[in-house]
Amino acid sequence: MSGTAAIPRAAVRAQCEESIPCPICAAPGHRSFESCFVEVHQCENAQCAHLFAIGVGAQHGVMHALGADFEESAYAERNERLVAFWQDRRFVSGNSKLLDVGAGTGHLARSLRTRLPAIDIHCVEESDLLRERLERDGFAVSKSLDSMPPGHSFHAVLLIEVIEHVDDPVDFLARLKGHLEPDGRIFLTTPCGELRNGSRTTNAYDTPEHIQFFTERSLQTAVENAGYRGIACEYIEALYPRGAGAGRGGPFRRIATRIAKPLLATLQGPRHLTGFIEP
Ligand SMILES: [Zn+2]
Repeated sequence: MSGTAAIPRAAVRAQCEESIPCPICAAPGHRSFESCFVEVHQCENAQCAHLFAIGVGAQHGVMHALGADFEESAYAERNERLVAFWQDRRFVSGNSKLLDVGAGTGHLARSLRTRLPAIDIHCVEESDLLRERLERDGFAVSKSLDSMPPGHSFHAVLLIEVIEHVDDPVDFLARLKGHLEPDGRIFLTTPCGELRNGSRTTNAYDTPEHIQFFTERSLQTAVENAGYRGIACEYIEALYPRGAGAGRGGPFRRIATRIAKPLLATLQGPRHLTGFIEP
């Protein structure tokens, strides 16, 4: 958890009454609701409708959890599918230079290195504890984008469950652009803060360190305001675990699940925003 002193409750209350500019499009945002962990404001611009936490201190978004052994086993199969998907889509190859932002325990970086031994991986990780672990595993590691050695540019950038932790997502995405090769791309995932039918029953609000809750529109706005062409959000089957229920219920149920999930995503909008940002 963050070492930052908590913001006094009264100050948060006072802020709740005010309009606060949307961190994505700068339109006024007003108090919307209180999640388990934070007061949430929503942007009044219907073309954005971004949701964001207020009254959180600097560095609030940084996670320090280790849980390496759990992650390794929980994600091993998913990571293998994901790396195969990226190869298939020509996002990574054997000689790619890849930047893993918010690398955490490094389980994904290790999966990439196992499948593509010559890949050149640089990790960015704010937590001292996790950075030590990544270094022990032989990865090049920086504490932040700003502290990366100059002159580094990458073919592929991973932003997996990162953007929802960042104070200023537009500035962050714009600074990443300076680290991309001319044909480089970013792969991004983030939990959706509000579905097309207005439902907020996603896992965006389950984690105290989340401070940005993107809608499909606010994510597109953030990406465009940061100077990119846009993000093509898509349903990526490789991302989702085949654990619970998979293989049971016979082929009919498996086919139904494969069709039902993407269909539901088409109707309600995705619960998780995932896709490639085009420079
Ligand atoms: Zn906005």
